[in-house]
Amino acid sequence: MLKIENLSVNYGYINALTNINIEVKQGEIVTLIGGNGAGKSTTLMAISNLNEKLEGKITFKEQDITKMAPDKIVKMGLSHVPEGRKIFPALTVYENLIAGTIGNPKLSRDKIKQLIEENYVLFPRLKERWSQGGGSLSGGEQQMLAIARGLMMDPDIIMLDEPSLGLAPIIVEEIFELILKIREKGKTVLLIEQNASMALSIADRGYVLETGNIILQGKGKDLLVDPEVKKAYLGA
Ligand code: ATP
Repeated sequence: MLKIENLSVNYGYINALTNINIEVKQGEIVTLIGGNGAGKSTTLMAISNLNEKLEGKITFKEQDITKMAPDKIVKMGLSHVPEGRKIFPALTVYENLIAGTIGNPKLSRDKIKQLIEENYVLFPRLKERWSQGGGSLSGGEQQMLAIARGLMMDPDIIMLDEPSLGLAPIIVEEIFELILKIREKGKTVLLIEQNASMALSIADRGYVLETGNIILQGKGKDLLVDPEVKKAYLGA
């Protein structure tokens, strides 16, 4: 479904990514793990064509999207939930969800209604708080809202940038369970995480990124017991 070939990104003198290759197949949860500054966010930004300078090729649903305008990529069915949630604090939960549909003529009124209802089933907490200001939600609820807003474009694939960042362990577990439910709904997931143990335990496959290079890849459950991964990322 999504193929990244020989991707390199530079920020001036900094090589943020060097020749990386990643493939995500339909229905998979694929995770990209790595420490601070490894290049995880840069990878997602490159897929959404938000980086200024990139080399390589990105294919989505058999189409070359390397130079496609970011809004067109979203409309093709690729949603990007950025790090730090970026919800609109002054808008209500409901309005934040509606904001997720703006500019997509493919979404009819009925479809938007249906997507909201589906989100309320997936995230009952958002249903309870539908009229509350986004800025008054807890960190975990804001993360749920950011993911729910990403689902409002009815994407085929959703890319999540560090959804567990800064959240209490119990909320982190809730978020990871939700990611599994999103996959059960037929969505493909590309998950960026520093919480390697949680990410690898739900992922079909994973890639380990270190200073802009993929140093390891494999099945989630195999990476979870890999001595190198254990030592560097799982605190063993
Ligand atoms: P984190 O988990 O800390 O967000 P990351 O793996 O997502 O890390 P990136 O944000 O992709 O890492 O950053 C990769 C490298 O590129 C880092 O060295 C970072 O300092 C650098 N970088 C990222 N964005 C920019 C920018 N806009 N200008 C210059 N350098 C940047």
